[in-house]
Amino acid sequence: LRAMLKDPSLLVTDAYVAGAWVQADDGATFEVRNPARGDVICTVPDLGRAEAARAIAAAEEAQRVWSARTAKDRANTLRAWYNLMMENQDDLARILTAEMGKPLAEAKGEIAYGASFIEWFAEEAKRVYGETIPGHMPDKRITVIRQPIGVAASITPWNFPNAMITRKCGPALAAGCGFVARPASETPLSALAIAVLAERAGLPKGIFSVITSNRASDIGKEFCENPIVRKLSFTGSTEVGRILLRQAADQVMKCSMELGGNAPFIVFDDADLDEAVKGAMASKFRNNGQTCVCANRIYVQTGVYDAFAEKLAAAVDKLRVGDGLSDGVDAGPLINEDAVGKVEEHIRDVLDHGGQVVTGGKRHELGGTFFQPTVVTGVTQSMRVAHEETFGPLAPLFPFETEAEAIRLANDTIFGLAAYFYARDIGRVTRVQEGLEYGIVGVNTGIISTEVAPFGGVKQSGLGREGSRHGIEDYLEMKYICTSI
Ligand code: ADP
Repeated sequence: LRAMLKDPSLLVTDAYVAGAWVQADDGATFEVRNPARGDVICTVPDLGRAEAARAIAAAEEAQRVWSARTAKDRANTLRAWYNLMMENQDDLARILTAEMGKPLAEAKGEIAYGASFIEWFAEEAKRVYGETIPGHMPDKRITVIRQPIGVAASITPWNFPNAMITRKCGPALAAGCGFVARPASETPLSALAIAVLAERAGLPKGIFSVITSNRASDIGKEFCENPIVRKLSFTGSTEVGRILLRQAADQVMKCSMELGGNAPFIVFDDADLDEAVKGAMASKFRNNGQTCVCANRIYVQTGVYDAFAEKLAAAVDKLRVGDGLSDGVDAGPLINEDAVGKVEEHIRDVLDHGGQVVTGGKRHELGGTFFQPTVVTGVTQSMRVAHEETFGPLAPLFPFETEAEAIRLANDTIFGLAAYFYARDIGRVTRVQEGLEYGIVGVNTGIISTEVAPFGGVKQSGLGREGSRHGIEDYLEMKYICTSI
């Protein structure tokens, strides 16, 4: 991998704690693997609570000075970091693909997307406005100011090794907070690479740390129990989100949670079918089905069910599966063997209950964790795929009859992150977008992620929003000042 990089110094195997590149206190390490080849790329330090505590203390120290700088000054430093990410986009993408598996073109897209949060929040830093409120008594003046919440910590998954971190640290640092990131143990290298660039951009020592660790629950406990941490931002499963919320309750810590999805994707009879197929391909097969906004349940009205299934299967058959670092690949491997197991279980469950495989359905001939992009039909609400996220390249097609039924089925889940539908009747479009109990709705589009819009879920998909002008709110506290004159 090092030989493929224009700047090999971006591939680091030390953790970044309190402004220093370090090994674990006890010398422990863990391996980072390339999921396409199964080989070990390198080892990184396996840090524990003591090192995390040092990073937290340093973040508190650094944020005193950082938050006292002008917003414009912080914005300029963050802008320099953004520029470095974009200048090193190719190298950052190669590191990302090597540790995570997504095709290089998608990895480049993720670097641009991830960097955009640094750019956006650098700009937003300058617009953290307060308020004045007409006093409630003749001698009283009321003002409201917004201040950084304090040290923020993040725990993030492997599916977006860059962007899941930047969309948390971007607003935190812009607001004036110190930040400690714990990337997923599968994908620490992308986080370390942006830490190299943070240093080069001139972020003060200690303001941003990266805790590489295979001891997830220890680090989670330190983040929740250390009284200096005032904010925890998590992206991952609803299961782990619940654990962290419970732990955070002991010190009444503010939490942002981006949790599971189970997105419905509805195709009505009046949809433009070719556009719907394009949208379904983008939504379902992006990152090989491994995103929390990937379509998980595709509901198709009976009038167009067969035609849609045929067109979707034809598009799926064109996907080229392979090593993400090779040219012309559309779908990489799955992250690990458990992920393959889940796709296989969902397919078996569909077949056991009367569904059919239209295309794919098996492990790919490339071996390892490669899987054939798959379409299944005859899927019903009692099957596992209706209630669990597959997180893999399986497109299950559920038939439905009426608009009301589609809305009811789509909402029949504990999750509420993203939903998509294709229709052209303006009345229907309005009714369905209002009826879907989701934080994000894509209407006649399968791609909804952008730094300018508020990303987040309702129900058990999460708390808080990331991106947009709202994203910085999670890292600010409001202070009301009452002055007697
Ligand atoms: P995913 O299936 O995407 O890995 P998880 O919710 O299992 O979703 O993991 C998301 C992140 O949370 C990962 O970085 C993982 O290491 C971390 N994690 C898992 N369990 C815990 C825990 N008990 N405390 C803190 N972090 C955890």
